[in-house]
Amino acid sequence: MSATLDIPDWFWSAAVFVFGSCVGSFLNVCIYRIPRGESIITPASHCPICGNHIAWYDNIPILSFLLLRGRCRHCSQRISLRYPLVEALTALLFLAVWLRFGPGWLTPVYWLATGGLIVASFVDLEHMIIPDRISMGGIPAGLLLSVLFPEMHAQQSRLAALGWSLAGAATGAAALWAIGVLGKLVFRREAMGWGDIKLLGAIGAFLGWQGVVFSIIASSIVGSIVGIYLVLSGNSEWQGRIPYGPYLALGAMIWILWGPELAAWYQSLVSF
Ligand SMILES: [Zn+2]
Repeated sequence: MSATLDIPDWFWSAAVFVFGSCVGSFLNVCIYRIPRGESIITPASHCPICGNHIAWYDNIPILSFLLLRGRCRHCSQRISLRYPLVEALTALLFLAVWLRFGPGWLTPVYWLATGGLIVASFVDLEHMIIPDRISMGGIPAGLLLSVLFPEMHAQQSRLAALGWSLAGAATGAAALWAIGVLGKLVFRREAMGWGDIKLLGAIGAFLGWQGVVFSIIASSIVGSIVGIYLVLSGNSEWQGRIPYGPYLALGAMIWILWGPELAAWYQSLVSF
C-alpha cells in the first residue's frame, strides 16, 4: 500500500484511528437512541442522567472520558464504560480495515459494515434485540453496494456480484432459520431470534455465502467457549443472558479482515 503524496503511512493510520474514534462516538448515539425510538440527529449530546448539554470539549472520543475520570461534569454520575469502549473498538477496527484494504472503495464499504455490526452487537447486549434499521437495512445496502463495487465478491460483472450478494443474504437467513427450527425441536426453547436471522441475512448480502458459513461456525465455537467458561466459573446464570448477535458480528468481522487466508487454510486442510 503506497501512501499518496509525500504523507507517511503512519500519518494515514493515525488519521484513520482518530476518524474511527469519532465515528465510534456517533455509534454510541445510535446504540443509545435507536432502541429508544429517538432521532439520531437531534437533539445534541446530553447527559442521560441530568440532561445537561455536553460541551464539545467534554465530548472528545476516548480522551474526555479519561479527563473527566468517567463522570459527568454537571451531575458527577458515572458515564457508562460503553462510551470509551465503543470509541476505542471502532477506532481499532477502522484501522484494521484500512491496513487490510488501503485506499480504495472497499475500505469505506467495510467501515460501514463494521459500524453496523458494532451498533447491532451493543444494542443486542443491552436490550436483547437487533434493530431492524441495522439488520433489515443492511440487506438492501449490501445488495446495492455489491452492484456498485463488484470486487466485494471478487467479481467483475455487476450482475454476478448482485447474484452472489442475493445468494449470501438468502443462505444467511435460511441457514439460521433452519438452525433455529432444529434447535427448538432439540432443546425445546427459542434458540434463535428473528433479529439474528435478519442480521445474518445482512452479513450474507455484504460477505457472500462463505462469510455466512464462517460466521455461523465461528460464532458457535466462540459461543460454546464462553458458555463453558461461564459454567466452570460458576456464572452459569449469565449464559442465557448473552445474546447471539455479538458472536455473529465477531465472526463476520474476522471474515472481513482475514477471509481469504481462512478460506485458503481450510482448502489446504480438506485437500490434504
Ligand atoms: Zn449529568
